[in-house]
Amino acid sequence: MRKHIFNAGPCKLPDSTLKNTAAAVLEFGNTGQSIMEVSHRSSDFQAVYDEAVALFKEVLSVPEGYSVLFLGGGASMQFCMIPFNFMKKKAGYVNTGTWSTAAIKEAKMFGEVVLVASSEADGFTYYPEFTIPSDVDYMHITSNNTIRGTELLTDPVSPVPLISDMSSDICSRPVDVAKYAMIYGGCQKNLGPAGVTFVIIKDEFLNNVVADRTIPTMLRYKTHVEKESMYNTPPCINIFAVKETLKWVKEMGGVKAMEKLAIQRADAIYNYLETSKMFRPVVKEGSRSRMNIPFLLKEGYEALEKEFIDFCKTKNIVGIKGHRSVGGFRASTYNACTMEDVNVLVDAMREFEKKNA
Ligand SMILES: *Cc1c(COP(=O)(O)O)cnc(C)c1O
Repeated sequence: MRKHIFNAGPCKLPDSTLKNTAAAVLEFGNTGQSIMEVSHRSSDFQAVYDEAVALFKEVLSVPEGYSVLFLGGGASMQFCMIPFNFMKKKAGYVNTGTWSTAAIKEAKMFGEVVLVASSEADGFTYYPEFTIPSDVDYMHITSNNTIRGTELLTDPVSPVPLISDMSSDICSRPVDVAKYAMIYGGCQKNLGPAGVTFVIIKDEFLNNVVADRTIPTMLRYKTHVEKESMYNTPPCINIFAVKETLKWVKEMGGVKAMEKLAIQRADAIYNYLETSKMFRPVVKEGSRSRMNIPFLLKEGYEALEKEFIDFCKTKNIVGIKGHRSVGGFRASTYNACTMEDVNVLVDAMREFEKKNA
């Protein structure tokens, strides 16, 4: 029986992604080969790659002049590739949690980091306001903070090239891609299995590459743009699965429909948390993510933590244990999470609360 999956990543994926990828593992089209066996240089695989890129561009309304890449290395590899390629002297960063902190650490190896804003002093419980300086080489933000559960739901206007880590909220709302020089993320939160990273990069931005630094071939964005993600062997099966998810997003009505569903899921959980006598939300109103919802037991009930996790297991709910840095619980409600999943969780909380009142 399929569980109610609230894992933060790898995450729940649409049934059609699982079914069609599983079928392609056994036989990819009529090729007589598995998607794991077929050459990445074959026309059959090229068609999969082209479709994934085209669907991504269509679903996100990516304007002309941008390239889409599917690479290995995870979002974490982008943390070092970005400053390696684009940081001449200094870059602006907003620190909104664990992943921004990791990105900042890498950037510091290549130049000066201007910390434009941070919510660290307040335990990253809100998304800080910020003004982007005009004298930095680029500005880096993390649109959704997977661990802390805060999200920036607008696309900032920036006087310098703007880069956003959208690992955990990609395709969950319409994005004005034109406002960004680059959008990237690990696919394992909203698009597919772990092992493939998406990069949407403005071709013009590639001219900003630091000229007087030697960048290894594999770590150069130009390499991957020129070779259309095929400089080396791309993660073929992962790209196939991402293509299936993008197809599903389109069939469901696109990112506008995804946003509507995301709002419904998050509202259902937050509405309950606001009225509960036993549970409380962690993130301040106005900064709340629709994708990751951390919550805690109220004072006096903290000892029930393990008991609630065990109770959830009996309801076939998995993945709600909180990140070790926040504690408590976290429900990750990505695109493939259904209202049914959410209702089962909220009912479980309600029942647990009644039982232990
Ligand atoms: C998960 C995550 C990462 C790290 O992704 P990897 O693909 O594991 O390197 C980076 N940023 C954000 C916002 C994430 O949620």
